[in-house]
Amino acid sequence: MFNTDADSETSTTNGSGDCAAAAQRAQILRDEIDRHSYLYYALDEPVISDAAFDSLMQELRDLERAFPNLIVPESPTQRVGGYIGATFESVEHAEKMYSLDNAMDLAELDAWLKRTRQTIGQPLTYTCELKIDGTSIALTYEDGLLARAATRGSGITGEDVTANVRTIRDVPLRLRQSVSHDDATYRERIEIRGEVYMPKSSFDRLNAQIEMESAKKADGSQPRLFANPRNAASGSLRQKDPRITASRDLATFMYALANPSDTGTAGQWQLLEWLRQVGFHVNPNIAYCSTEQEVRTFCEQAISTRNDLPYDIDGVVVKVDSFALQRQLGYTAKAPRWAIAYKFPPEEKTSVLRSIVVQVGRTGVLTPVAEFDPVLVAGSTVARATLHNLDEVRRKDVRVGDTVVVRKAGDVIPEIVGHIEALRPLDADEWQMPKKCPSCGSVVFKDFDSVAYRCVSAECPAQRLERLEHWVSRSAMDIDGLGPRIIENLVEAGLVRDVADFYALTIEQLSSLETGQLKYARQMGPQRREEIGDYEQVPELVGDLVASKLYDQIQVSKRQPYSRVLFGLGIRNVGKTVAELIANNFSSIDDLRQASEEQLTSVEGVGPVIARTIIEFFQTSDNIELIEELRQAGLQLEQDNSGRKPQTLAGLTFVLTGTLEKYSRDQAEALLKQYGARASGSVSAKTSYVVAGDNAGSKLTKARELGVPTLDEVQLDAIIASGEVPQIS
Ligand code: AMP
Repeated sequence: MFNTDADSETSTTNGSGDCAAAAQRAQILRDEIDRHSYLYYALDEPVISDAAFDSLMQELRDLERAFPNLIVPESPTQRVGGYIGATFESVEHAEKMYSLDNAMDLAELDAWLKRTRQTIGQPLTYTCELKIDGTSIALTYEDGLLARAATRGSGITGEDVTANVRTIRDVPLRLRQSVSHDDATYRERIEIRGEVYMPKSSFDRLNAQIEMESAKKADGSQPRLFANPRNAASGSLRQKDPRITASRDLATFMYALANPSDTGTAGQWQLLEWLRQVGFHVNPNIAYCSTEQEVRTFCEQAISTRNDLPYDIDGVVVKVDSFALQRQLGYTAKAPRWAIAYKFPPEEKTSVLRSIVVQVGRTGVLTPVAEFDPVLVAGSTVARATLHNLDEVRRKDVRVGDTVVVRKAGDVIPEIVGHIEALRPLDADEWQMPKKCPSCGSVVFKDFDSVAYRCVSAECPAQRLERLEHWVSRSAMDIDGLGPRIIENLVEAGLVRDVADFYALTIEQLSSLETGQLKYARQMGPQRREEIGDYEQVPELVGDLVASKLYDQIQVSKRQPYSRVLFGLGIRNVGKTVAELIANNFSSIDDLRQASEEQLTSVEGVGPVIARTIIEFFQTSDNIELIEELRQAGLQLEQDNSGRKPQTLAGLTFVLTGTLEKYSRDQAEALLKQYGARASGSVSAKTSYVVAGDNAGSKLTKARELGVPTLDEVQLDAIIASGEVPQIS
């Protein structure tokens, strides 16, 4: 062993000899570490313990610290680099990164198998792979070294996320030689493609950590959890600080090459083997299928094993194996014809419905919510689902005691599909909407013009809390930190009755409020966990520091624009979009108060129901008082509409889908809204136009089915410039 202490006697007197020996040793260590990484990640066959591996890494780190000139970018110690900067640079992909066409069931899969067979005119062989539910990545290696990593982006251009991808341990920083294929060309420049994903266990850990940190904030605000591992993976990949990405335990499965002929492989199956040999992590759950029946069997097996895997998958990708035949089949504008993504049917589970509770919303609407035994559906445990209204409860005919079928709508929001008749207990009665408000006991009325039941008491505490929470919410005044628990305490302490009272609060009042820290049960022993469930409440005071931050946030919110104030007031039927429309047409709250039903309904998007609720709102003296208090507090109750664009697109609804080159979706929507257009997230017969960017998916298909005209980005540009929709064929 030689001396690694750079300041020592030996290294100064005998620098060059030591340095040469160190260089040699560093090279040996790097090769050895790379070899063990390869055995561990690519082959899943480690031959040394984690501790021994860590020890090799430590020795290399010490050596490089002592002799910094030995550090090379591909050294395994150099995965985590410095801060990235404000934006990720845009990069152009050498070859377009396509999306995949979907087969939503086995019948659609069969249709695709038949189509490809008939196009080629002979039976085909296929490689089946799991469809990893992560985010696509393209890795460029130059002379065998990782030079660049880019996201898919629009498919033409993506974002440069090299610094973050380097931190992913199973991504080789340098390639190995392939033993079985001609790989002479790969040393120059080669682009490998695959998926970055977050294992389920890392995802759980990350969300638990976010919850813990949010509990520490002690303001009762909801933690911003990641909805699923896919979002967590793409969020983690787009961090400005690679150290954060490094802490997120991302992993990859690589499965493609921009130009597969670079490797001398003849088809996908051989390519996967090549990828493994040169050091990539290739998913082991793959199959080479010589018959269509084998393809179907693989898909069916994948459905039944999906929950046992340590990562999320959302289907199976079936690829025609031969590259020659792939070339013959070619591409559509969006996707290869030689591959199809067979998507899994939404997962459904059964559970027992224990109760239907009623929640009172901000406008007094009573919403029935189903509470059932916790079940694991599509990757997360759920125990509650909204039943929306009484009609829905009747339509689904669900009763307490029923065995219900639960699934996740769009794989995110839990939903009750129905019940299993044969398992219904004999004494299960039809559920009834309560006659009195569960919060204040006032009589409940049914709306004459909708399915809703409502508590109309102005004093109802549940409504008050909801109104206050709505006011501080992100789309309204966006007062970060004023969470439900603090609001509840403010109401209980008699400090806040309506939203104007927030503006009279002092730092002293806020700091002496009692709040509670939540302790996450996972951090405790099993017995404690058993006793307290998920969390333990630890009462605490808000304290001066948090109080002064909250105070500042409240003051800053006074600058929120008039349209947000209108939305925040929580006038029935006045959502965010309607509030914007109204603000654009009535430039002050005083003008709005004077407006007649006729003037209100002359605004495109405001119908008689909305007009009536607005008029009713201003007829209530409490509301007039509230507005005066808000005026006193200095909130924005008007806006300058003089520079407004003509409302030439009023009455038209646009749906944007896919990736646009020049605008984000929000920007494009805002530009269309300037002309009075509406933007919606889903396509229906009422949609006027669908604007399709690159990789547009199901919305475009739906538009075609419904005969909704579609526009491309060039046409969108023309509309944004002129406010007119050009003639389209
Ligand atoms: P979609 O985004 O639903 O159109 O599906 C296409 C995406 O699936 C691709 O861009 C890849 O990111 C992803 N994908 C996941 N696993 C695979 C796989 N084994 N082969 C090809 N694509 C995959």
